[in-house]
Amino acid sequence: MKRTEFGIIGGGLAGLSLSILLARNGKSVRLIERHAYPFHRVCGEYISRESLPFLRELLPELDWNNLPLIDKLVVSSVSGKTLQNPLDLGGIGISRFYLDQALANEAKNAGVLLEENCLLKNWIDEDSGISLETASGDFECEKLILAYGKGRGPATKAKKLNRNFIGVKYHIRFPHPPDEIQLHNFRNGYCGMSRVENGISCLCYLVDSAELKSNGNNLKEMEYQVLRKNPFLKEIFDKAEFLWNEPKTVSGVTFGAKGSMQKNAFVIGDAAGSIAPLCGNGMSMALHGASKLANVLINGTEHTDSAQRHSKEWKSEFSNRILAGQLIQQVFGKEWLSNMAIEVLRNNPGLSKKLIGLTHGKVF
Ligand SMILES: Cc1cc2nc3c(=O)[nH]c(=O)nc-3n(C[C@H](O)[C@H](O)[C@H](O)COP(=O)(O)OP(=O)(O)OC[C@H]3O[C@@H](n4cnc5c(N)ncnc54)[C@H](O)[C@@H]3O)c2cc1C
Repeated sequence: MKRTEFGIIGGGLAGLSLSILLARNGKSVRLIERHAYPFHRVCGEYISRESLPFLRELLPELDWNNLPLIDKLVVSSVSGKTLQNPLDLGGIGISRFYLDQALANEAKNAGVLLEENCLLKNWIDEDSGISLETASGDFECEKLILAYGKGRGPATKAKKLNRNFIGVKYHIRFPHPPDEIQLHNFRNGYCGMSRVENGISCLCYLVDSAELKSNGNNLKEMEYQVLRKNPFLKEIFDKAEFLWNEPKTVSGVTFGAKGSMQKNAFVIGDAAGSIAPLCGNGMSMALHGASKLANVLINGTEHTDSAQRHSKEWKSEFSNRILAGQLIQQVFGKEWLSNMAIEVLRNNPGLSKKLIGLTHGKVF
């Protein structure tokens, strides 16, 4: 059986960045990813600048200076009332297609054994090590890191979800200020638009699955009947050039903390807990979680000590931000509440700043 010191499940931002850091520090690492790079995934493409120094170190060759800098937030209510706010720290726009591919290449260069098109089906913790059962054969590792994102993950039972969301994403061409991220509410959901590389914009929305159901599970019908009620979204859907035949979609999206350890496995990124997408901070949290866990694993001694340190650090860094995101998310997608919130925030610029601050971390 092919054995490495570390096994990482999931090659999103958390898994890829951790794999690079471990491999650069001389560790043997296998990363298992169900898809093959490059690929598009449902994710808005605004990365908070708190993670820019970290990303620059991971990918020194990438042309960071030519990516759009995003410093303004425009929010509209369901009926089109707007609020504009400067973003103190701001973000950059970069597609996941481009970023994940660059990280995957860097991981391979650093010596990571990258298994693409490889779905993990199960893992078993045994005295001799951890066995990984995949669709493309079995592997073994001494320490396991779960970074499989927002899904329920392998070897976990499906839970019945009371309320869950559908994510939908397009790449479009549409004239709008490149330094602005727009967040437009519609009934039971919200839609973000921001610029990425090459003049392309990412248009990505999240909608309560019940809203889609009440539109006969027909996305086009829902976009026509519900999203277009917001005048900003009407203009975008009427005038933009849509670059893909079909959008990328994901279902069963939920938010909240899930836990930073599963048995003896370390958990990071969305697999440990996901923040509501409107905070525009999930990617930075995935990267930050990887950076913190790398420190623990590179300098770690006993497994129990590393596990305790990881749990403590994860909780203190992320659990309050996830909770704040969940609370703010309640306001979105509701007509009277989003109108009222925009009115209140317009008259209290300090409050908007505080709310944004609650979901964001420090530069790392
Ligand atoms: C609609 C929407 C919009 C968002 N917009 C933004 C935004 O603008 N800015 C922001 O910062 N964040 C945003 N987020 C959040 C962001 O997408 C996540 O927080 C971030 O991608 C988490 O990174 P990750 O590495 O934990 O997971 P992911 O990037 O999801 O990666 C997980 C990987 O694991 C792989 N995988 C899963 N199961 C298996 C398996 N069994 N075997 C092998 N591989 C497996 C998957 O294929 C995937 O590649 C958004 C999220 C949604 C849903």
